[in-house]
Amino acid sequence: MAKQRVWSATRGQLVLLLALAVLAAPVEYLANEGAHYLAARGFGLPASLHFEQVDLPGIERLSDVQRLMIVAAGPAVDWIVGLIGVVFVVVRFTPMRLVLAIWVARPVQFLSWLLGINVPYFGLGGSLRGTDEVTMAELLQLPPHAVIWLELVATLPLLAVIVWAVPAGCRLAVLSVMSIGVLAGWAGWLALGGLLLP
Ligand SMILES: [Zn+2]
Repeated sequence: MAKQRVWSATRGQLVLLLALAVLAAPVEYLANEGAHYLAARGFGLPASLHFEQVDLPGIERLSDVQRLMIVAAGPAVDWIVGLIGVVFVVVRFTPMRLVLAIWVARPVQFLSWLLGINVPYFGLGGSLRGTDEVTMAELLQLPPHAVIWLELVATLPLLAVIVWAVPAGCRLAVLSVMSIGVLAGWAGWLALGGLLLP
């Protein structure tokens, strides 16, 4: 029987993981906003993509179902990519699969606000109004944080699965490098995203 090559945390692999993790937040952000943009274009709106928001002129002409589809398109992309990533990283661990799997961590960004911790320097905190999840809850006539809680309930066991999928001997190193990379990428995106996408 062919022996399966086991992943190990060599310096090269950790550098690769760091590079992929730095890209994770900007790529996820663009995919999320791009999905809103494409859904809106699909409904014939002359949408335009900016760093802070997607402009949706004429959205008031659309039905609630169409608006819901535009808003839900963003988180849907996060969940689809993340769930595929989780399946792949469980089958076999690689840094690429790990950074795709963590797209399921999207609702974790709301946790600090729900716990009452305000960390505005990470672009978190403040009000959750205007987030995709709160807008979806409004359109579905649910309590404002219903969709966020639903996502968190789904996310927490998946994060446990992701941690378990990291080879046991190098879990601390992998999760530290990944977290540092993701936070650095997000900070960099907050600083530079406005220049790239005015
Ligand atoms: Zn969005």
